[in-house]
Amino acid sequence: MLSTLKFVLFTAMSIAMIFTAVYLTVLNTYKPAVKTYINGEFVGYFTDEQQFDEVYNDLVAEKQSIDENVKVYLESEPTFEQSYIKDSVLEEQNVYTNLRAEIKTEYTIYDLVVDGEEMKFTAEEQAEDYIEKLKAEIDNVDAKITVEKVSELEGITSTDRADDILASVIDRNKPVEPVYEEPVYVSNQYAASVYTGAVAAVADGTKCWPTVSHTVNCDYWGYYGHNGIDLAGSSGTPIYAYMGGTVVFAGWDSSGYGNCVKINHGNGLVTIYAHQSAIYVSAGQVVNAGDTLGGIGMTGWATGNHLHFEVKLNGVSVNPWPYLNACN
Ligand SMILES: [Zn+2]
Repeated sequence: MLSTLKFVLFTAMSIAMIFTAVYLTVLNTYKPAVKTYINGEFVGYFTDEQQFDEVYNDLVAEKQSIDENVKVYLESEPTFEQSYIKDSVLEEQNVYTNLRAEIKTEYTIYDLVVDGEEMKFTAEEQAEDYIEKLKAEIDNVDAKITVEKVSELEGITSTDRADDILASVIDRNKPVEPVYEEPVYVSNQYAASVYTGAVAAVADGTKCWPTVSHTVNCDYWGYYGHNGIDLAGSSGTPIYAYMGGTVVFAGWDSSGYGNCVKINHGNGLVTIYAHQSAIYVSAGQVVNAGDTLGGIGMTGWATGNHLHFEVKLNGVSVNPWPYLNACN
């Protein structure tokens, strides 16, 4: 009886010891962990949800170091399943690599198109700064920013590259300063052969030098085809009627005279006053010698302010000097 009791006790103790040994072995080899899923896909074992959050936050910071405005997200909230896992499995996996593959990014790109050049910036201020710099240098800047959302950062324009493009766009669009070209003087070398000596029989009366200055900028045939005399004068300087007559034209002449007055003095004689900045008479008006017809200008084909004074006899341009020399 006693021996039977001893045997039972011994057996029970043995079983208890075996269970303890097995329990301790399992505890040392297997660790508690959370099996993690995103969007139904297994992404790895984390020791707990807190470790998952730490890894996720590290990866967000990693993306933000490239572009601070990036939007980082997961396709769905993670789900966790409590389990036990072998140490070796935990050690072999890389939770950073696993989770990095699941992270989604959305970058905002500011596309700037200027004069056929395209640039991509990650910061809106950078694109706006660029346009400001451009506006400071050239007029009528045609620049447009469009916003684009992309999952990967590609083809971003570096600051150096943007500066280079800025310089070349400015260079291409700089306004060209008008250059005043002095007329080429060839004195009267053509005048003698062109002037036939025909002078209209002008009626007696006052003949007036047609403006204030007697300085000749370009003589009759001073260059080939120049069929008048250019007299110096600043914009607005009065222009006087050479002789009495009737205004036959006062207005814009698109053949090169610009604002122009023509006076018919009779006997086939017409005087022309070209490039005016202002006109004070109108067609049909009767004028006397010395009446103000308008102001000197540079309208029509003119590179600077002057009066182009021209004399026509029976419709043909003639040398104005015999007429001007007759001025009182
Ligand atoms: Zn001229």
